Amino acid sequence: MPTESAFLLAGLFLLLAASGWAMGRFSESDDDVAPPPLNIDYLKGLNFLLNEQTDQALEHFLHMVRVDDKTIETHFALGSLFRRRGEVDRAIRIHQNIIARPDLASEQRDQALYSLAKDYLAAGLLDRAEKLFSRLSEGSRYQVQALENLARIYEQESEWKKAIEATERLEVLSGRSLALQIAHYYCERAETAAAEKDYSAAREYVKKAQSGRPRTMRGALTRAHIARDMSDNKTALKLYHRIIDENTYLIAEALPEIVSIYKREEATAELESALRAMLAKNPESSSLIAYTSIVNDLGGIPVIDDCVEQYMLNEPTLGEFVELQQLSQGDKGSHDSALAKVRGALSKLASTTPRYQCQECGFSSQRLLWQCPSCRNWETQRPASRVQFDTVLQHSITNH
Ligand SMILES: [Zn+2]
Repeated sequence: MPTESAFLLAGLFLLLAASGWAMGRFSESDDDVAPPPLNIDYLKGLNFLLNEQTDQALEHFLHMVRVDDKTIETHFALGSLFRRRGEVDRAIRIHQNIIARPDLASEQRDQALYSLAKDYLAAGLLDRAEKLFSRLSEGSRYQVQALENLARIYEQESEWKKAIEATERLEVLSGRSLALQIAHYYCERAETAAAEKDYSAAREYVKKAQSGRPRTMRGALTRAHIARDMSDNKTALKLYHRIIDENTYLIAEALPEIVSIYKREEATAELESALRAMLAKNPESSSLIAYTSIVNDLGGIPVIDDCVEQYMLNEPTLGEFVELQQLSQGDKGSHDSALAKVRGALSKLASTTPRYQCQECGFSSQRLLWQCPSCRNWETQRPASRVQFDTVLQHSITNH
């Protein structure tokens, strides 16, 4: 089967033929009516194509059709088509061929360099792509695109300092606010510093992350984690509670931390009243508390157990699989152990389904990702508010 690129090249050869270039020029004298002789180069190229030797056909095309003002657009079109088809080596070959032309206008050289940088990016040759984008970011009509691509490369390489520099330059050049993106880069730096126990640097980065608008809750969460790691439980608790007050969806991240700090301090009575106060203020958070508790298998705290029980009773699919009436019968001991058993089983099931989903593109994952790997938006993931029990149970039944 001839490949798509063979068709593409065949099209180009036909185009050359149609323009009379490859078939030899018609004689300008009127009395010459004989068909023109076939150009031998053209036949050779076609022969490569017929034998499905795309690389040879391409080499032949590049050799035959020199880059000049008339053909340069064709070269660019061919290069970008190859890249889009994933045939990056061929795209690179074409763009290098353009750049090799000695008398190239500076605008065309920039275009070729930019195309080649995108080829390298597509091929995963990040260092080569970075070099070219850096050069173009210094002064060309591709400055903005070059900086956008540089930021993307630095994200992939976790080069957060460089990502901040590139994005700050991009902000100035494009006139767009990129404060949220920059704040996340600072949070990355803060998390790295905290992991290395350099807490003063980590706090400095968090401060920078929180200086921009719109503010990211990730900065507050990182500050809370730093306080937790430094055993400053009072500050940590204050921060975790504030995070939940401001953004209910972060219950999924903050609640397990809150529970573990109170438990460590053996202050479960305080935990009970803190959570009751939270629920009184925001009754809708009950299902997210329940969901988070199921996923993390948190239990033994009356207010949490109540939320979980309520959640299970409101879940129609569960009734078919779980003896929920057990929960409402018997003494407190058997009730609690029945609840713990069901919660434990659900926790295992829930661990096989995605917990977070991007609100922009629907990409889902097990843990919270601040940047969606699919659409690359920041802070667009939200926790699922319920486990897809029907899917999960169906899945577990068919696998047994
Ligand atoms: Zn997304």
